[in-house]
Amino acid sequence: MKLHELRIDTASPEQPQASIMIIYTGGTAGMVLDKSKALVPFDFNLILEHMPVLKSFNLLLKVVSFDTPVDSSNINPEHWKLIAEIILHNYQTHDGFVVLHGTDTMAYTASALSFMLEGLNKPVIFTGAQLPVSSPRSDAHENLVTSLEIASAQKDGRPIVPEVAIYFDYYLFRANRAKKVESQHFDAFNSENYPTLAEAGIAIEYNTDRILPFVPGDHLKVSTSIDTAVTILKLFPGMSKTTVESVLSTPGLKGVVMETFGAGNAPTTPWLVDCLSRAIDAGIIIFNVSQCPGGKVSQGRYETSKILDMIGVIGGNDITLEAAITKMMYLLGTIKSKKEVKKLLSLPLRGEMDDRK
Ligand code: ASP
Repeated sequence: MKLHELRIDTASPEQPQASIMIIYTGGTAGMVLDKSKALVPFDFNLILEHMPVLKSFNLLLKVVSFDTPVDSSNINPEHWKLIAEIILHNYQTHDGFVVLHGTDTMAYTASALSFMLEGLNKPVIFTGAQLPVSSPRSDAHENLVTSLEIASAQKDGRPIVPEVAIYFDYYLFRANRAKKVESQHFDAFNSENYPTLAEAGIAIEYNTDRILPFVPGDHLKVSTSIDTAVTILKLFPGMSKTTVESVLSTPGLKGVVMETFGAGNAPTTPWLVDCLSRAIDAGIIIFNVSQCPGGKVSQGRYETSKILDMIGVIGGNDITLEAAITKMMYLLGTIKSKKEVKKLLSLPLRGEMDDRK
């Protein structure tokens, strides 16, 4: 994919406070109305015209844009790899990264990146907007400005947020804990099972105890191998055997994220247990996440989840669906041993789940 690049020195002639890369992938934030009043991505060369706010920093900014900015519904693992590679190639020369991305699948991309960027010691802040930048009430400006500030924030010469995060509507969330929860109001994201990493008021208050620590000497290792032989199976009362069987017999299927009820419960009807059990025996990994946005899966707490534990379903604890599916794709792509994949699914790798069962 072709990329466009632009360097903007907003500090000149002074020394810039930090060097930040903006990766523009698309989404509402970067859209304007064309002559026919349809929303289209703006011409990248006019970025300063649409976002004059970029000039008001004391930063060295490098802006990289996808050749064709995309609505995030069209984002796929090839785009995740591209973002990961851009970060890898520019890691040494930049203090932090801001990724402008559509909100619809931002939690998936940001979660995937949190797994793909092992040993990350710099901020990678995802943001976007609910209203296009051309709209007078657009939230794009505030979201971008504060993301840049967070990406460049340092204390004692170290980044304050050395992890992948999502900044939106005055709050900073851990990427692999966040979910898009709202499509009409500005507060599009939430992180039900983990406290916010920061809140932006007059000052930005960082919740430092909850932010992943800077690890001296850690080196960035990027894995771009993603296995898409996975699926999501959402249970509902009255679900038919034919549906479950047809999902589980998908040719080449390696992993299933199963969305269960409450604390990880599923119907105990023998045909379902039998279908799941046969799939597990055939080598398919089944990862249990709850349909509830808050709380956690405790397999064995109720009779309706005990059997899942017995047949070898892996409990997903308090992980989000977005983090579960991207973690599975990352682990299946990176690790050969199924036993090891199963073990790692149940352990926190990047703060995506609680370490207590
Ligand atoms: N459909 C848009 C996208 O996800 C919505 C947004 O950016 O908020 O790309």
